[in-house]
Amino acid sequence: MFNLQGKTALVTGTSGGLGQAMAVGLAEAGANVVAVSSSGSAAAVGQIRGLGREAEDLQADLSRLDELGDVFERAASRFGGIDILVNNAGIIRRTPAAQHSREDWQAVIDLNLNAVFYLSQLAGAHMIERGSGKIVNIASMLSFQGGINVPGYTASKHAVAGLTKALANEWASKGIQVNAIAPGYMETNNTAPILADEARYRSITERIPAGRWGTPDDLKGPVVFLASSASDYLNGHVLCVDGGWLAR
Ligand code: NAD
Repeated sequence: MFNLQGKTALVTGTSGGLGQAMAVGLAEAGANVVAVSSSGSAAAVGQIRGLGREAEDLQADLSRLDELGDVFERAASRFGGIDILVNNAGIIRRTPAAQHSREDWQAVIDLNLNAVFYLSQLAGAHMIERGSGKIVNIASMLSFQGGINVPGYTASKHAVAGLTKALANEWASKGIQVNAIAPGYMETNNTAPILADEARYRSITERIPAGRWGTPDDLKGPVVFLASSASDYLNGHVLCVDGGWLAR
């Protein structure tokens, strides 16, 4: 039931970090992958092809919201449809709330929320016609907590959790499962400034029950679960993959 052979996944934000690992994880479970990123996905595509799966490197700036229809069409026509959408591409802008610029706010909301909704809308319509589909959104600990100096990011990730439930409610009866993964503290570009701050890195690590930060590979199992028929009766769930951070 975890087998994804014959399925096609559209994964966004696959130039590195969590998106690359999830794309490869889905391919290891059998899926072909359309990898969408603003800076290309050469490493992910190379690894997926090395597994004997098909992969397409589709370079696109997803914050250009008017172009998302075209991006989805190109992705859907590549391997004959989309069975799985993983909305992973996201950015973070760190400035105190009182100084958070409108440009930072808008850029974060456009990619982390607006692009997620519009791509889900396109995929949802496509999946309703096909009678099945899986959508996995990437939320955050800041779908639950406030964070520090990242008001736009926190607002976007709270919204992603709400949107996951809204879409799950509407589409559960149409054979489509919409769920989210909320990663804890993972070592990627997104968290590079915290990793470089030794005191903050140490205090966060000490608070994680598992005693370590997550790695991109820690998301492979959860994303395969949410993309496969193993999760057919799971709707609107936000799965925390956080080494116990929120349980503490
Ligand atoms: P990352 O910076 O390594 O990856 C971000 C990806 O998004 C890259 O592939 C980048 O090319 C792509 N991207 C950025 N702007 C884009 C645009 N305009 N159009 C298309 N693609 C674009 O960071 P990551 O940690 O791998 O982040 C992936 C997701 O996980 C994000 O949604 C992030 O908010 C979320 N997340 C990360 C952590 C963490 O601790 N690293 C924790 C919780 C949630």
